[in-house]
Amino acid sequence: WPHHPGGRVTNERLEEILLETPDGKKAEQWSQYYTEGAHLAGQNYSQALWTKEKWEEFGVKSEIVAYEAYLNRPIENRLALLHKSKAGWTVEYEASLKEDVLKDDPTTNSSNSNPVFHGYSANGNVTAPIVWVNYGTYQDFEDLRKANVSLEGRIAIARYGGIFRGLKVKRAQELGMIGTILYSDPGDDGEVTEENGYEPYPDGPARQPSSVQRGSVAFISQLAGDPSTPGYPSKPGSPREPTESVIPSIPSIPISYRDALPILQALNGHGPKASDFNQYWDRNLGLVHKGVHYNIGPTPDDVVVNLHNLQDYITTPIWNVIGVINGTIPDEVIVLGNHRDAWCPGAVDPNSGSAVVNEVIRSFGVALKEGWKPLRTIVFASWDGEEYGLVGSTEWVEEYVPWLKAANVAYLNIDTGVGGQCFGAHAAPLLNKVIREVTAQLQSPNQTVPGQTIADLWDGKIGTMGSGSDFTAFQDFAGIPSLDVRFEGCPTDQAVYHYHSNYDSFYWMSNYGDPGFVYHRAMAQVLGLLAAKLSESLVIPFSAKEYANALGGYVKKAEEALHRSSSLPSSLSAEDLSEEEIFSLRASTADQDAIFPAGSFADSDAQFARLYSAVFNLTKAATTLDEHANHLLKRAETHIPWWRWFERLRLGFAIRKVNTQYKLLERAFLYSDGLDGRSWFKHVLFSPNIRSGYAGAVLPGLVEAIDARDEKRFGKWVGIVEGAIFKATEGIRVKEHRHD
Ligand code: GLU
Ligand code: CA
Ligand code: ZN
Ligand code: ZN
Repeated sequence: WPHHPGGRVTNERLEEILLETPDGKKAEQWSQYYTEGAHLAGQNYSQALWTKEKWEEFGVKSEIVAYEAYLNRPIENRLALLHKSKAGWTVEYEASLKEDVLKDDPTTNSSNSNPVFHGYSANGNVTAPIVWVNYGTYQDFEDLRKANVSLEGRIAIARYGGIFRGLKVKRAQELGMIGTILYSDPGDDGEVTEENGYEPYPDGPARQPSSVQRGSVAFISQLAGDPSTPGYPSKPGSPREPTESVIPSIPSIPISYRDALPILQALNGHGPKASDFNQYWDRNLGLVHKGVHYNIGPTPDDVVVNLHNLQDYITTPIWNVIGVINGTIPDEVIVLGNHRDAWCPGAVDPNSGSAVVNEVIRSFGVALKEGWKPLRTIVFASWDGEEYGLVGSTEWVEEYVPWLKAANVAYLNIDTGVGGQCFGAHAAPLLNKVIREVTAQLQSPNQTVPGQTIADLWDGKIGTMGSGSDFTAFQDFAGIPSLDVRFEGCPTDQAVYHYHSNYDSFYWMSNYGDPGFVYHRAMAQVLGLLAAKLSESLVIPFSAKEYANALGGYVKKAEEALHRSSSLPSSLSAEDLSEEEIFSLRASTADQDAIFPAGSFADSDAQFARLYSAVFNLTKAATTLDEHANHLLKRAETHIPWWRWFERLRLGFAIRKVNTQYKLLERAFLYSDGLDGRSWFKHVLFSPNIRSGYAGAVLPGLVEAIDARDEKRFGKWVGIVEGAIFKATEGIRVKEHRHD
């Protein structure tokens, strides 16, 4: 057994290097580089090449891995408000569909600025009255239906926020609407608004009135990756499948609030008002002071909008950069990735992450030069095509899934690494422990209280994995425990972040987001340490018990959903779970059957008792595994002289066994047929919430069956979940109990 893993570099020295090396100045340089060139998916080859060369310069062998992705490019578009009078139709307002050029912010005048458009939006030229649909959530549309607001044949205007934009378009389309306009309402910017006396960017931190949020409108909760190659990689010559069930068929366009004003004003006096609905409508109405009454509409037939969207659909190369540091153990691999493509300069999204990853790799490079040899293999990735629909990462996972399932211990994602000063984390529960350990070890850049750590300033909440970034294929398709970390906007924030706009720029980052790039530096330390602990710890630092406990909480939530009379479960997320092990009190001690027959609503108590019982057994096995692992680690840390070589050998084998059990635990929760109606998603515990996209759902198959009041489906999912828990339990059993 390698008693001195790491070659000439001890773990202590490695951590020292990973803390000392990251440098704000360097991060600033990387940020400047990435925010200047061409960034769009499939148009950033020079940045891919530069990234590969930099990583090699740092000492990490790298290559470019290309895929052929189905993507759209904007050709032309138009949005106009038309009125009809006796004289005929007149154009009341022609939307500019442009963001202002700012003399302080050089990238806003760059030839690399992209027009405003939506990724995967449908071509179309439609003219119709409009309806303001609030955020365009599923529930908002239900409220409209209840109020008998006529939607069919109309164009929706929705504000951004709440859910993933593509699902707003999806619901509008399902209800017979013929186009969707999405705008950014300053009411959703919190305190930092012009109304409250803040200057708009670049003179101040408030929203620039012409800023537009671009973004993908693919149906994120149905499929990830290239919409034409579900479940397999987009290589040259790959067969292509029809895409109509996963991308919109009605046109859409994103606009600024300045362009939205005349259109929203045209709704004044027509139909009910936001205040006639409920509190989800009557809040954050940021344009009231600008003459918008927030009527819902529809506008009468002589007040219409023309929406024209022309896109070119192409199949074009995209480029991931993959760097590898080979470890001593070939089949235990840590992957750390971030996307490189951006709609706009992308100083926050994704280049704060890209700058951080470069600093992490540079730091590992310093260790390599000192003679460090990692225990596990570390793979670094710079993904292309994330913005359109997680394309680069998903195609790569789809190509290498057999190897990843066998070897990948964890995937660490960073996307918008620095958008503010508050630490945030989402993770598979196996990884909670290492996140807490690392954040408690690192000083926060905020030293108003000297010595305070990142953990001291963090609320400690770890969200479940939903979607919206490159961890999705790892977690939901391949069953690799994943995490996503960031410094994000705080509740009491200082500056509006111009997401997917030209003002997500280097100038914004340097002046408002992270002056001095100190949070970039801190994030490089976080990621470096996470990767180091996962790769260097003799025993993989997972907590199986924490996973079992979390699972008990999910089952409890599902049971509560069943007992709620109204159907709410679609909004179920683990965010508000209590960590209580209430389930263990309820668990029946009945023996497990090896077969998992379907359950039914009629005896739902008995069905849930089955699940609690399965979780109870998993918890027992998990506790034993964690204890066994701790014991082995302690043994390995004490010196065993060479002449007790047999003991050393046996310990090595025992550690290897436990590590394999930890590595494969998450895989037990994959179900090969996938979730109902979205078979690409294979994980029975986690998926994006089907109606919101970004947010995570827990036990999605089971909960959606409850939501649909579908007894047969419910029964099926009780069996599937119970089977998965059983498989997980068997997989982590510690057979040999020799703690000598
Ligand atoms: N992160 C991107 C977004 O939120 C892409 C997400 C996706 O398409 O899954 O727009
Ligand atoms: Ca694919
Ligand atoms: Zn991103
Ligand atoms: Zn993005």
